[in-house]
Amino acid sequence: MLTIKCSGCKAKLWKYKKVGPGKVLRCHKARISKRFDVQERDGMLVCPCGREIATDMGRFYKMHADAFTHTGTKDTA
Ligand SMILES: [Zn+2]
Repeated sequence: MLTIKCSGCKAKLWKYKKVGPGKVLRCHKARISKRFDVQERDGMLVCPCGREIATDMGRFYKMHADAFTHTGTKDTA
C-alpha cells in the first residue's frame, strides 16, 4: 500500500493499492482505500495547501508528476 503525499506541504492525501512496478502515473479510484483531507475542485484533486495533485479522468486520476510523493510499498501482482 502506498501513501500519496503532497510534495509541497507533505500532507497525507490518500492511500493507494499500487499493483506492479513502475511510476505512479495514475490512480484508479477502485484502489484508493482511504482519503485524508484532499478536496475535489474543478475536476481535480487538490491538497489543502492549494496544490493541484491529480486530474479526474473518470475511472482514474491522472497524477501531476511534480505535485506528489509517496511512501510505502508497491504490491507485486
Ligand atoms: Zn499540500
